[in-house]
Amino acid sequence: MTHAPPQAGSVQTIVLDGLALAQKLRGEMADEIAKRVAEGSRPPCLAVVRVGDDPASASYIKGKRRAAARIGMQAVEHHLAEMTPEPELLELIETLNRDPGVDGILVQLPLPPQIRPNAVAAAIDPTKDVDGVGPLNAGRLLMGEDGLFACTPLGILEVLDHHRVPIEGAHAVVIGRSMIVGKPISLLLQRRNATVTMCHSRTRGLADFCRSADILVAATGRPRMVKRGWVKPGAAVIDVGVSEVDGKLVGDVDFEALLGVAGLLTPHRRGIGPMTITMLLHNTLLAHRARMGA
Ligand code: NDP
Repeated sequence: MTHAPPQAGSVQTIVLDGLALAQKLRGEMADEIAKRVAEGSRPPCLAVVRVGDDPASASYIKGKRRAAARIGMQAVEHHLAEMTPEPELLELIETLNRDPGVDGILVQLPLPPQIRPNAVAAAIDPTKDVDGVGPLNAGRLLMGEDGLFACTPLGILEVLDHHRVPIEGAHAVVIGRSMIVGKPISLLLQRRNATVTMCHSRTRGLADFCRSADILVAATGRPRMVKRGWVKPGAAVIDVGVSEVDGKLVGDVDFEALLGVAGLLTPHRRGIGPMTITMLLHNTLLAHRARMGA
């Protein structure tokens, strides 16, 4: 017997509650940390470095520190002035690298123009690179080895697994090729035996690629660029993008238009954002376990 493919409009769309999933995972981490501390271990410690006074960065860091505190993890902020020269930031990173009480180091992006993000990423001790931005961890991902990998892509995999979206053999289309989202999620999906198409701003026939996706990841920062007609009925659609339009935050996906078409859909609020923070905490816990030899 053959099954007719689902039609647009007839699909029951599951909308991700990223906050609920994040809270479940954070609860498990809190239990583990409490147990370790009760056994005499120090709590895991994340060092967060902010350069300059970008209000969005300040707000992201506040969210990360609050989330860390709620699970019993220490999060210490180091704030440097906007005009800080690169060598001064690298010196701070070196101090944090040597500090045995620090498990993870995160340097909040964007950085001011005098500082090269790749030089910063390369300076972080790979065992403390909880944002997965350094060349060693990126290389490990490429080579199929274990390591600390970028948080948003890890969060996406958690979401797909939580909703039992089949990855092996699926066609995954990723729009965007950045080092923090597009490239690592493409590699992670490929490692899970998806067939991956990576698209970007010069891709010809983007809508056609998207229409053939079983899993579609949009990470461009282009408001609502993924339209209803771009999505195969029943596909899992992961909206990573966040942009501001008329003072309101919107995603890369035309959310309302995809209801009844996508099988799984992530909203731009309570979607991938809380999962990204959760995986940062998880990477810090992994780094802590490795440092403490357990
Ligand atoms: P980047 O700007 O580094 O990369 C954007 C990518 O999108 C580039 O590869 C670019 O292609 C591609 N792109 C841009 N315009 C188009 C287009 N019209 N068609 C196809 N591809 C296009 O962004 P990030 O990867 O850092 O972030 C992407 C979005 O995700 C942003 O909105 C960011 O705020 C958000 N984000 C959200 C997170 C969360 O936790 N929710 C975490 C991280 C990011 P090209 O390479 O050719 O320039």
